[in-house]
Amino acid sequence: MNNLYSPAYVKKIFKKYNFRYKKKLGQNFLIDKNINEKIIEAASISKDDVVIEIGPGLGNLTQILCENAKKVISIEIDEEFKQIHEDILHYDNLEIIYDDFMKVDLNKILEPFNKEEVKVVANLPYYITTPIIMKLLEEKYPVNKIVVMIQKEVAERFASPPGNKDYGAITLAINYYTETHYAFTVPPSVFVPRPKVSSAVVVFDVLDKPKYRVYSEEVLFNVIKGAFAKRRKTFVNSLSSTFPEYDKDSIVKTLEHFDLNKSIRGEKLSLEEFVKISNYLMEMIH
Ligand code: SAM
Repeated sequence: MNNLYSPAYVKKIFKKYNFRYKKKLGQNFLIDKNINEKIIEAASISKDDVVIEIGPGLGNLTQILCENAKKVISIEIDEEFKQIHEDILHYDNLEIIYDDFMKVDLNKILEPFNKEEVKVVANLPYYITTPIIMKLLEEKYPVNKIVVMIQKEVAERFASPPGNKDYGAITLAINYYTETHYAFTVPPSVFVPRPKVSSAVVVFDVLDKPKYRVYSEEVLFNVIKGAFAKRRKTFVNSLSSTFPEYDKDSIVKTLEHFDLNKSIRGEKLSLEEFVKISNYLMEMIH
């Protein structure tokens, strides 16, 4: 019988297929049924949903997704799972693509679907959490909800306020594109092999329209990236040395215009302030 929630069964599968988990691909398998069900609940999965899953691994979460969603498209980089999937995952509504998520053309995959019906649900490989989330947000795919399990520490960073040491470009991107909430914490004991740190499930509701009126998203995100490129420098120095097209004088004038101290660091600025600054700079320079 297929019981991917039994450590003994999982061990048997590993042995039968001579499978050795690959640390460098972030392979920690979640073998707790209750937690997988809580993920389905946090994502409010129903028979109207098309789900993109990143990294199905053995298929623990995949099978619950298939039982609850209309369609599941899973993308797995490790082709060693192919035979295991063929033997143990038998669902008509499941399609598995063996490729690197960072390289797949998600627009093409999602072409037949509407934004309202598409969700991304995944227990993410931790070595690549930030690039995956940035890809999902910046490329503006037709996805309305993203529910991911990530390291607890990273989940906390996503919710950190300006001035906190963990505040950074990704916090601002998440804040700009989504409404985010921390769903629940997951202990290392429910994984095989056990990771060293705790994990957390985070829900991102992708906004139809960003929270602020921005003249150019490209300028906004250049200003944000420039501000955090050299954390120990002031906002003026970091931005002007990363992007020379923003000259020091214009940046200082912009800060003065908004009554901000010219020696302020980027990490003290809120998303709203970044929006105001980038809009003003855009008017002045472009
Ligand atoms: N979903 C399974 C579970 O919950 O037990 C496995 C989760 S495991 C944390 C991460 C999975 O992502 C592994 O199966 C790994 O091979 C896969 N993976 C790693 N890098 C990937 C990438 N760039 N694209 C697609 N899958 C990837």
